[in-house]
Amino acid sequence: MPVSKLSGIGPKRVEQLERLGVRSVGELIRFYPRAYEDWTTVEKIENLQNGGAYCVRAVLGTDVSNAMIGGGRILSKATVYDDTGTLRLVFFNNRYISQMLARGVEYFFFGKITADSFGFQMVSPSFSKVSDGVVIHPVYRTTAGLPGKTVQNAVRQALRLLPNEINDTLPDRVRQTFGLCGLREALVNIHFPPDRDALDSARRRLITEELLVLNLGMRELKGHGRGTTGIKITKDYSDRFETLLPFTLTNAQRRCIADCVSDLMRGGAPMNRLVQGDVGSGKTAVAASVCYTAAKNGCQAAVMAPTEILARQHYKTFSKLLEGTGLRVALLTGALKESEKKQIRAQLASGELDLVIGTHALITEKTEFCNLGVAVTDEQHRFGVAQRAKLLGKGENPHLLVMSATPIPRTLGLIIFGDLDISIIDELPPSRKPVKTVLMNSSQRDRVYNFIHSEIKNGRQAYIVCPLVEEGELDNVASAEEYAAELMLGRFSDVPVGIVHGRMKSDEKEAVMAKFASGEYPLLVATTVIEVGVDVPNASVIVIENAEHFGLSQLHQLRGRVGRGDAQSYCVLISDATNPQTTARLEVMCSTCDGFKIADEDLKLRGPGDFFGERQHGLPQLSIADFADTKSLELSQKIADYIMFVYKDLRNEELHLLKAEIDRLFDSGGHNMLN
Ligand code: ADP
Ligand code: MG
Repeated sequence: MPVSKLSGIGPKRVEQLERLGVRSVGELIRFYPRAYEDWTTVEKIENLQNGGAYCVRAVLGTDVSNAMIGGGRILSKATVYDDTGTLRLVFFNNRYISQMLARGVEYFFFGKITADSFGFQMVSPSFSKVSDGVVIHPVYRTTAGLPGKTVQNAVRQALRLLPNEINDTLPDRVRQTFGLCGLREALVNIHFPPDRDALDSARRRLITEELLVLNLGMRELKGHGRGTTGIKITKDYSDRFETLLPFTLTNAQRRCIADCVSDLMRGGAPMNRLVQGDVGSGKTAVAASVCYTAAKNGCQAAVMAPTEILARQHYKTFSKLLEGTGLRVALLTGALKESEKKQIRAQLASGELDLVIGTHALITEKTEFCNLGVAVTDEQHRFGVAQRAKLLGKGENPHLLVMSATPIPRTLGLIIFGDLDISIIDELPPSRKPVKTVLMNSSQRDRVYNFIHSEIKNGRQAYIVCPLVEEGELDNVASAEEYAAELMLGRFSDVPVGIVHGRMKSDEKEAVMAKFASGEYPLLVATTVIEVGVDVPNASVIVIENAEHFGLSQLHQLRGRVGRGDAQSYCVLISDATNPQTTARLEVMCSTCDGFKIADEDLKLRGPGDFFGERQHGLPQLSIADFADTKSLELSQKIADYIMFVYKDLRNEELHLLKAEIDRLFDSGGHNMLN
């Protein structure tokens, strides 16, 4: 039923509601309030404070007086009282106020208190008669020219159209087992809750349902998303690969490789696997082994990295490992000359190349493969699911290997990567020592510099991470170049200092990174361009300036640049922040090196928006749930397990409404995941 059927909703309102994504009465019912004004806690007038938002319960003591002010606007005033004092109310430009409020009647008024020379006043409060009894008021997202009250009235009418008995998306059995209220009750109470408890129970039910739908949807994708593959991989070359390595693989690495190889060789559905391992756990070797087996079986492999620096580093690692094996490796990134790119693309298309490492350049239209067998994405959290799908689209249903450090908390990972099988590298190479991490303020910087000098004297290397230049938003933080210049002329005048930042050209960056990797530069001043993947095992110190500007997961990634070799490594966080919350956050870094723990803390502290950048996870838009809500995520996971256990199959008749919701959610924004 279109919203135009509701009274008070004419063509103009229809258009405004459409802008909010609401076309039907059903959508209006699912248009949940963005917030609530809680009128359940009433404050006495004598206790009001300037700047606070309050609900007072007071009687209108005067008539409403109207006065014309500049620009033909109306200013309405009235005074209200309770048993502790009086308060002035002020309304702007609302001609109807004098008709809406009656002298001698008791109301709830909700609004912000401001002060002027006459004392306190409440400006344009919302209000309702105490006798109406409504105490928690919904606040809706609105758009220009559409008053919240209008939305509220429309929702009220829409809810009246709900039949007394509605079919519930969740079977009774599921609701009873997990103590969730019925759908009808939830829909009514999410808009107009009689009290806090009713609201909480409605929210719980709807949030859980939404996450459940997401969860089950991702499981569906895993089962049926990819069809079968014709790629033939019949022989396992991972033992042979190990002989090429300068080190022995850890058991965890071997296990992950074995998982992958068994996926490659099983026939039927292609590999669809996530290898998750903390920074420094050795994911590159796992990827290289898988690519090697693929290439030895006669198909092509592609590794996509999120940055130019990382792609080049991988290219070097792979080339060195595969030297003398006869396999042909190439690099394809945006920074190459057009003629070089053209040549490499031609070789890829003709099958002359076995392996290609690259950046987004791999997924542009111009890139074609002869027979892409395995597609690898490194640092998957930097890519959207759609980009992953694009890489897969370069072959005939190729195998997929996704590599990720652990910036995603377990519960969330279960959902986001729900369409992937997971192998975890839960072991660091032997002889790794946890990075010692300390928090210091800028007055202690000199000690830090002395320490760097002594490490360099011992043949080690160091990074100093200065605040972002490329973002350019942070005021009064030194730019990388100035910062480096200061160090080069000052405390480190006797040390060759390299500098990399995002504004440099790729080949310049590359040249500096190469000199740092070879040890020619013992000290590298860098921005966060070194955040992902950079691997120089001889580096033993990283100093992070203005540490408070970074999220915990980002700090963890940065810290992961050291502690990659045998030497004891150090991370110094420099911050002058005094806010206890900020220092507490930085203390988390000092207390643990466990990426999972840090990710959990980070999500709790910052919320998922910052955590992911701009919806990089590629998941459908949620309407009420929140990815940071670990408790609800866990509950939805449990219910999903229960449902699969009890009903076995989503096609079960009792689940048909739930199934419809899954299809709806994934149609409305997540379809790219189906490729
Ligand atoms: P990440 O998991 O962060 O991508 P890398 O693959 O870059 O980690 O590996 C980190 C460092 O550890 C590299 O210098 C790599 O050569 C080294 N490494 C990887 N596996 C082992 C191992 N089994 N034993 C010793 N060193 C290893
Ligand atoms: Mg890596």
